[in-house]
Amino acid sequence: MTIYRGKGVYGAIAAGKIAVFKRSHLPVKRDRIKNPRTELERFEAAKRQAIQELEALYDKALIEVGESNAQIFSIHVMMVEDEDFNEAITGMISAQRVNAEYAVAATAENFAEMFSAMEDAYMRARAADIRDISNRLITCLTHNKTDEPMMDGGVIICADDLAPSETVSLDKNKVLAFVTAHGSYSSHTAILARNMSIPAIIGVGDEFLNHIKDGDLAIANGHSGEFILHPDGKTLSEAREKQRTEAEKRELLQKLKGKENVTLDGRRIHIYANIGSADNIGAVLLNDADGIGLFRSEFLYLESQDYPSEETQFKVYKRVLESMPARKVIIRTLDIGADKQADYFGLEKEENPALGLRAIRLCLTRPEVFKTQLRALYRASVFGKLGIMFPMITSVSELEACLAICEQVKRELSLSGKKYSSEVELGIMIETPAAAIISDKLAPLVDFFSMGTNDLTQYTLACDRQNPHIEQFCDTHHEAILRLIALSAQNAHAHDAWIGICGELAADTSLTEEFLRMGIDELSVSPAYVLRLRDTVRKLNLSESHTTSET
Ligand code: PEP
Ligand code: MG
Repeated sequence: MTIYRGKGVYGAIAAGKIAVFKRSHLPVKRDRIKNPRTELERFEAAKRQAIQELEALYDKALIEVGESNAQIFSIHVMMVEDEDFNEAITGMISAQRVNAEYAVAATAENFAEMFSAMEDAYMRARAADIRDISNRLITCLTHNKTDEPMMDGGVIICADDLAPSETVSLDKNKVLAFVTAHGSYSSHTAILARNMSIPAIIGVGDEFLNHIKDGDLAIANGHSGEFILHPDGKTLSEAREKQRTEAEKRELLQKLKGKENVTLDGRRIHIYANIGSADNIGAVLLNDADGIGLFRSEFLYLESQDYPSEETQFKVYKRVLESMPARKVIIRTLDIGADKQADYFGLEKEENPALGLRAIRLCLTRPEVFKTQLRALYRASVFGKLGIMFPMITSVSELEACLAICEQVKRELSLSGKKYSSEVELGIMIETPAAAIISDKLAPLVDFFSMGTNDLTQYTLACDRQNPHIEQFCDTHHEAILRLIALSAQNAHAHDAWIGICGELAADTSLTEEFLRMGIDELSVSPAYVLRLRDTVRKLNLSESHTTSET
């Protein structure tokens, strides 16, 4: 038995046989051809076939993983049709009298190298896409097929890395898990795996590939990031037991759908869900969340190669609001900066980006970007119950500046005859110690607070949340954090504002009782945790004397 460690990007356990994903590395030979015209026709036919395949992949991805993830295939279609790319290939076939396969491979490599050398990280990442479409075109030209992994029954797919097209084309019903040597948490493949709810581990390192073959038994633990090759009987039965327990728990929790989030002594709270994309709405509805407590709108910006237009944003916000009739949807304004970087913002490199130009600071220094988002949000507000939330507030003046811009946006919309709802709630994230400490001053200005405990923990305990080496110092139950939450709750209620928690701590059921006793009105968690939290709430009795909860 050998244990390899990577990073779990979707928490679930799979045990089963391995299928190694190999690519046909098509050897492309340079041949001198007699008739360039025939070769050009072959290239045109291959292009048509590639486009058809990509369109089919787009349709499949649209159903399985939603529009924003499917878009990668429309980008591939655009690349296949790109004029410069095509002219370079056809020019090479005609001028050098080479076979189409060679012209495609050589041109794609030139383009890929050009992309790899670019400063902009987004453009650099396009090199992989160029190679992906080049392989597809060559496959079409040679009628060669990518090696399908052996997929009888369910398998754990192991690969060096997977291109988005490869991930989506695998039969989802037969994939138990993905394990890759490379990849990053925010790579397309990791995002797709999460959205497909398939356990996945990335970054295991190249070594494991030398020791696996089709049919080997393994366990992929998407919680711990452990990939266990040739597990012994005891480890295997423990994993199967964990799987059974997980399945039973999921089954039991289904019975809580449609039930209220009410304690035994009658205290009601809201349990909302956190999302990063409109494509996650399915999971929100499936898990019966009362609303959306945090839509991290910056993912819309991170997925784009340029500032998303007002119209693009309006459509997304409208879709989310319409999918949640009569339920509250809290959309957080842009929280770019720190670990969330989009190159087109052209932000300077900072020594301490978590303490730098991020979130509301960025919006207030670029009011046009902020106003575009606010216009889209207000226009969408007529389609549901919208709440707008500002991240990283540290002072009253910042909040006042945000509120003034909202007023300005509403005035401009009215002047141009555009409708917006007058019932939009405005709130802030309390994720800096400063905001919690002056929450008595902030509360009169807003409808709600939402505790961002991820950042609140990082800033209060001086623990970089990106740094895995200081986890032992990062006590999320630290008394300082709990006191700041309690203080914010007290100040919110004193000024008729409601208060929720949308950081990861909201899902920590060992603290639920304490949060409810503090007066927290809403907890917003990943969709998969909604029913588990409802279960906890329904078993609490706040009329009993308080005992400290244990993990
Ligand atoms: C938080 O900081 O707790 C939060 C919810 O925001 P994010 O994790 O997106 O920074
Ligand atoms: Mg935060």
